[in-house]
Amino acid sequence: MISVRDGQNHILAAITTVVAPELVPVTRALGRVLAEDFSAPIDVPPADNSAVDGYAVASADIPPTGIRELRVVADLAAGFVFDRALAGGQALRIMTGAPMPAGADTVYPQEVVARVGEHVRIGPLAKGANVRLRGEDVEAGAIVVEAGTVLRPQEIGLVTSLGAWQVVVRRKPRVAVMSTGDEVAEPGTPRRPGQIYDANRFTLRGSIEQCGGDAIDLGIVPDDRATLRARLGEAAADADVVLTSGGVSVGVYDLVKEVLGEIGAIDFWQVAMQPGRPLAVGSIGTTAFFGLPGNPVASLLSFMLFVRPAIYKLAGRRMLFPQTWQARALEPMPKKVGRTEYKRGILRFSGDAWEVRTTGPQGSGILSSMVAGNCLIVLDEARGDVAAGELVTVEPF
Ligand code: AMP
Ligand code: MG
Repeated sequence: MISVRDGQNHILAAITTVVAPELVPVTRALGRVLAEDFSAPIDVPPADNSAVDGYAVASADIPPTGIRELRVVADLAAGFVFDRALAGGQALRIMTGAPMPAGADTVYPQEVVARVGEHVRIGPLAKGANVRLRGEDVEAGAIVVEAGTVLRPQEIGLVTSLGAWQVVVRRKPRVAVMSTGDEVAEPGTPRRPGQIYDANRFTLRGSIEQCGGDAIDLGIVPDDRATLRARLGEAAADADVVLTSGGVSVGVYDLVKEVLGEIGAIDFWQVAMQPGRPLAVGSIGTTAFFGLPGNPVASLLSFMLFVRPAIYKLAGRRMLFPQTWQARALEPMPKKVGRTEYKRGILRFSGDAWEVRTTGPQGSGILSSMVAGNCLIVLDEARGDVAAGELVTVEPF
């Protein structure tokens, strides 16, 4: 038996390469992993500018008490520059975002002044009010997005605000996936008696895409040694990672470990976890191999625990594991000491605390529990039965 943590550490230690970088336009960069630190080539904003619609003045003209009248010398819209300097006794009508004229350092919002013909009447105001300073968002030379960051809309907007229209990201890891077993039938085709429709290839394809990989679908491979060997060989030539589901338990037709032993290297683990347990980990040439269990919940969970961090590391991501939170258990949960248990939970906010209950039956074949749930309840190895009201760790889907 190996613990989940030790298994993860072994797998991550074996991944020593990162996929190559490529240049993509910002319009295609959402969700991609930045390959190099992005440094700002310019200040943002590039010049001091007005934060409001109003009147720009020199602080020397601000009355300490009472009212003063200044002459309005021009109107300035955003996107234009006032090409002279403001002289004493003058004000400039200015729009939000327009650069501050030379000689001015403070802006009066239009609501707090009185405009009388060509003049504006102003009262006391703090020096520098309502001015956005050059570089206050980003200073030239600063690293604004670190390598290994997954680009969200806000990172993309930040780099375009700095003038970039393309970014260097990691190529998507290519992850080939196949289902194994004579009992597995293709959805949309007739099913022979004794067959079940394929679930795993589709939960896994979706999981691969969700974590930033390119899924290569190798279909269903029957329990036949030659076919399996050929398909695995082709897969490895093309992919960074190869996944199978089924055929790693101790049945007579469990060929995956046999074939892998011939064309690559394979370790066969019993992981101290529930659901899950059997997991094959190996390689075919430089391609990483994972043989996931056949039961749908077990294969999806094994993907989340072991394959996802591996894909993340391969993709150059900084964060390999999801954030977890604490919630109060709404019901007692049976738990065996000595293995990590993952229950599917329904997490909700009660009004003053986060609370979680299980989705009901927790069998490793009950895929509907993953559908009913919105989180995993993670009960670590050392823990025993959970009483209602205790805190448990949750990992939202
Ligand atoms: P195995 O690991 O091949 O012994 O399979 C364990 C259980 O998972 C069996 O009940 C299989 O029928 C089921 N199973 C295997 N592959 C799939 C699949 N692709 N989709 C749904 N269930 C599967
Ligand atoms: Mg099988």
